[in-house]
Amino acid sequence: MQIEAAIFRKPHENLTIETVELDDPAAREVLVRTVATGVCHSDLHVVDGVGRWPLDRPIVLGHEGAGIVEAVGRDVTTVAPGDHVVACLSGFCGTCPQCLSGHPNVCSNSIVARPDSDKPRLSLGGQPVRQFINISSYAEKMLLHENSLVKIDPTIPLDKAALVGCGVLTGVGAALRSAGLEAGQTVAVYGCGGVGLSIVQGARIGGARQIIAIDQFGQKRQMAMRVGATHFVNSSETDPVRAVRELTGGAGVDHAFEAVGNAKLCRQAVESLAIRGTATIVGVLPPDATIEFPWMALRPECKVQTSRMGSNRFRIDIPHYLDFYMQGRLDLDAMVTRTGRLADINEAFRAMKAGEVARTVLTFD
Ligand SMILES: [Zn+2]
Ligand SMILES: [Zn+2]
Repeated sequence: MQIEAAIFRKPHENLTIETVELDDPAAREVLVRTVATGVCHSDLHVVDGVGRWPLDRPIVLGHEGAGIVEAVGRDVTTVAPGDHVVACLSGFCGTCPQCLSGHPNVCSNSIVARPDSDKPRLSLGGQPVRQFINISSYAEKMLLHENSLVKIDPTIPLDKAALVGCGVLTGVGAALRSAGLEAGQTVAVYGCGGVGLSIVQGARIGGARQIIAIDQFGQKRQMAMRVGATHFVNSSETDPVRAVRELTGGAGVDHAFEAVGNAKLCRQAVESLAIRGTATIVGVLPPDATIEFPWMALRPECKVQTSRMGSNRFRIDIPHYLDFYMQGRLDLDAMVTRTGRLADINEAFRAMKAGEVARTVLTFD
């Protein structure tokens, strides 16, 4: 069938809306009518040419999608036509050692992609069009493996649910799962984009006593305070490490998070730690980035770790986090700064770069 999709052809150039061919669902594949998609930083990384994956082009980007199932392949057992679903890039196999030990977010077996030897899911004039991390949500419809999807309560608005597929899952999960935050602890969050603001929310939900949000854009103050930060530091005006020390009475924080993918911020996160503190690097750095910090910055028994997609088990975590939303404990409304249509994709990237938005959500008819 033919669908409209935003195609990426060349770094630093605008995406173009074109009509592409979408194949029918194979055995374990699901055809989803896209209702909403968030515009995530990882897509912008690709457009800016700093992605860590070598990507063939043309490609349809977008991976924070939610929609309604239209059709399923003959072996699909987890969803049926009419179901409301959220896509997640942590597609899992369910049989590898990581999946079987409860860590499907680092599944080592990519069964959710269609093999290169098969007909591509997306094509244009008979030529293959790549699918971004097996989702491609900047399109009217998505064709994915069922293990890239979770069914959700149909009363939850899909334009909010979409966000929980990537940025919110990553941020809330970083605080509650990767870091193992305990109630009463202190937190610093470096970077207040969609992921950083979600870490702030996860820390609030987990009962953090002090949540210091840090960003180079002063306009992030209001957003950060709205979702639960107790303090905001504008890092373009103030040394954030010194500010964290002052705000914590010299102790430093129990948990520092890096939510941008910047080596300097990783160092600052480490330098912000208290004794036995944990720095969790959530951002994705360029492959050759080097993180340096002086030995003296390492407080006794501190830890530095990474977090992959909020250490999610998304089939469990996405419905849980959406429960938090429906109960008023997770503020997804505050995360949607702007809405638009597929044609607004390039403007959404510009606004994200300028630090004007937590998230733009694009909706489809
Ligand atoms: Zn993302
Ligand atoms: Zn696996």
